[in-house]
Amino acid sequence: MSTTESSDASRAALRAALRDPDVIARYRAKIHPEKVNGCTWWVGALTAKGHGRFWVGPDPTRSRAGFVVIAHRFGYGLAYGIDALQRAPLLAHAVCDNPMCQDPTHLRPSTIAENSGDWAIRRHRLGGHLRDRRGARGRAEAIRQALRDGLDPYEVLQAGIPDVERDQLPLW
Ligand SMILES: [Zn+2]
Repeated sequence: MSTTESSDASRAALRAALRDPDVIARYRAKIHPEKVNGCTWWVGALTAKGHGRFWVGPDPTRSRAGFVVIAHRFGYGLAYGIDALQRAPLLAHAVCDNPMCQDPTHLRPSTIAENSGDWAIRRHRLGGHLRDRRGARGRAEAIRQALRDGLDPYEVLQAGIPDVERDQLPLW
């Protein structure tokens, strides 16, 4: 089991981590150095849903796997502070709809209900990532590999899109 942000001990650990230059440097090292298609891309570990997964450090409650957070939440905390982060139990990629994106200006605080409503709309968007045949995690892995190899992730993106939709593909 890994610890998430929810307990008091992990909130205190997260608060300390957001001020720790070594942790911040480790976070930044997992981000692709250049913007691609307007987004800032995570190239580190991934969750099952294709979000960045960031190991903050040893677990404050001493579980074996350590203290892990969703990467873009850590980035949001760096940009806007831990209080803003804790007021946002859910952060939506409202600008880019790109789960790997770490640009805090592309994120908006959301609720589970709002996000479910958005998801229902986005699922039907032609060429959108929710229609990718590889699933969220498979798509994210393929894009991460392209970025690590210095390839254009746009072609990798297209590979998962059903043929009939490919001609109508939006940028992301
Ligand atoms: Zn973005």
